[in-house]
Amino acid sequence: MITVTYQVAASGQPQPNPRHRVLRAVPKVSLHCHLLGSVRAQTVVELAGKHDISLDGRSAENLYDHASYEDLGEFLRVLDVVGSVVRDLDDLHRITYESLIDAADHQVLYREIQISPPGHGGVPYRRLLDGITAGMRDARTDAGIDSRIVVGLNREQSVAAADALLDDIIEQRIDEVVGIGLDYAEALGPPEPFAPVFQRAASAGLQRTAHSETGPPRHIEILLDELGCSRIDHGYHVVDNDRITRRCAEEGVPFICTPVSSDIGRYSGSGDGSHRRIAQMVNAGLAIAIDSDDPPMFGTDPTRDLIALSDALGYGLEQFERFTHTAVDATWLDDTDRAALRQHVERQFTALKEIP
Ligand SMILES: [Zn+2]
Repeated sequence: MITVTYQVAASGQPQPNPRHRVLRAVPKVSLHCHLLGSVRAQTVVELAGKHDISLDGRSAENLYDHASYEDLGEFLRVLDVVGSVVRDLDDLHRITYESLIDAADHQVLYREIQISPPGHGGVPYRRLLDGITAGMRDARTDAGIDSRIVVGLNREQSVAAADALLDDIIEQRIDEVVGIGLDYAEALGPPEPFAPVFQRAASAGLQRTAHSETGPPRHIEILLDELGCSRIDHGYHVVDNDRITRRCAEEGVPFICTPVSSDIGRYSGSGDGSHRRIAQMVNAGLAIAIDSDDPPMFGTDPTRDLIALSDALGYGLEQFERFTHTAVDATWLDDTDRAALRQHVERQFTALKEIP
């Protein structure tokens, strides 16, 4: 749990801590944030009311009880509740738009949104795309944040279900969908069986990533060698194996780490806010980028995740600049768009450093 500290100005109005203000202004590129995990609690309550769906007495105040997420099953159960209230095109537009606007408010310039079609309770894939892309377009117009889509295959389901979803992705291909991921509980769905699905995605020109939060280091090699992933979500256990760590450092494999959610979930350390594994990964020379995973569900946001690392590890602007540049390099934009994003990021950092 991260507490933002405030200083009281002479006027009596609380002012954000100056260091926190700088971290908020750091330009950010978001590669590991889930659409269903970034729905405002108040929006969940309003959509439940709209569709007459019971939240079992939960309110906006207690819907996201992140203290209970040490148990991944409890987190996924709440995620299912969120998925159950998002039914029509307007809902999909709204949650996408709000999620991107909220990110832009923390200087996120670009996001590859991770979506999980199986978590949407039977809403057809085409409708998901229509609603989500409409929200993406309006967020770009209103807040300047650009985005693409990464479609997550649910590893707790069968390989046949993943294959069927890949059929939808390929048959209903749109430019916004740049790749696929592998999400939900790694312990219940090891990566090997999904290799043929990922290889078929590669043949269709889709990029690949996958979650590895609790699995052994050899899972990371399977993701690289058999699933053809070009980046890894989390990947904290890589540091348990020196050889695989060295290999990933040499190859510049990007790991997209999420400090606050992974601390609460005990993935990146002991849950004591030390972010021990992220520190080890950085010290080992791995390519690290930072994101927020499921921000409101874990009581965080893109700035708070940087504050957590700044507080625990003493990281300053130079380190956060490296993280953002790693994220830019790890995007699945084409070369022209990636170069434009890199320029945008560099301009923002230049401006940030000129602030006295
Ligand atoms: Zn995730």
